[in-house]
Amino acid sequence: MSETGIYECYLTYRCNQRCTFCFVSEAERAVGAPIGFKSIIGKIYKMRKAGCDDLRLLGGEPAMYPDITGVCAAASKIGYKSITIFTNGTCFAGNELASQLKKYGLDRANVSIHSHKPEVHDKITGVKGSFYRMLSGLDSLRRAGVRISFICVVNFLNATELNRTTAFFLNKGISGFTFFFTKYQGRMVEEPTRSDKLSISMSEAAAVVKKALGVFRRHKMPLPGLEHFLPCVLPGYVRLMTDYFPAEAGKPDTGYLVHPDGITARVYATAYKGRRWLETCSRCRFRRGCCGIDPGYLAKFGSREFKPVKK
Ligand code: SF4
Repeated sequence: MSETGIYECYLTYRCNQRCTFCFVSEAERAVGAPIGFKSIIGKIYKMRKAGCDDLRLLGGEPAMYPDITGVCAAASKIGYKSITIFTNGTCFAGNELASQLKKYGLDRANVSIHSHKPEVHDKITGVKGSFYRMLSGLDSLRRAGVRISFICVVNFLNATELNRTTAFFLNKGISGFTFFFTKYQGRMVEEPTRSDKLSISMSEAAAVVKKALGVFRRHKMPLPGLEHFLPCVLPGYVRLMTDYFPAEAGKPDTGYLVHPDGITARVYATAYKGRRWLETCSRCRFRRGCCGIDPGYLAKFGSREFKPVKK
């Protein structure tokens, strides 16, 4: 599906976890109330008329939205071909929510999973018991027939065992994997005592990701997507990067998103707002499609890792 059909809908900033790398800011969390049902249905309808047919539900924890079933039902009815929820999985534990949402058109859940070790997962989420609730949620989603993708933010606490985590979850009926690098937004800048414990350089994270790729090869599985990693740090892997856009460079940003404050914006413009390039980047063969360096990362780690790759 082309990017033009995507509508990213941030239903609520509320969440039942306190993940250290959550990029929702304190100000956004203070908004409190989720976006109103009538308002969100109006926007979903408007974006469908504008050509979007791939709805992505985000948050906060979108499964906590009071009428999440109604949102899926309405989106299916007006012609969205695909509905994906980005979730920590815990709201699906021990209940029928997954099968209800599946009935109303949910076809994919992208579940945040941080480790195969309960104590590591729980330390990252800030909530004791979240690992086992997430596992139970995975079971419910799988039983309901929702396709599950694994998404994992690579950080200091889970890096050394990333290949073991990958191997553990490869056997759990998961159909896609994406490894993210940390974004220096939200709690990563607002809670430095916690975030210092997670911080890792992009080169270190890239090294463990390369090791984990061996697990996919051994299992003859498709390789994972990589997001927020830069091509100069993983030059042989740009085809896996979901935010490296050489073909789209210079083309209009046609995806839409809406946040709980009701403001509608463009997807790329929001995701890459404030990104920076170095003077030397002009000599890099990847400059055209590179999404740029996170300024928060530059402030913490400096620019030494980012060397232009020869044309
Ligand atoms: S353009 Fe700059 S930041 Fe991007 S890949 Fe090349 S050297 Fe790295």
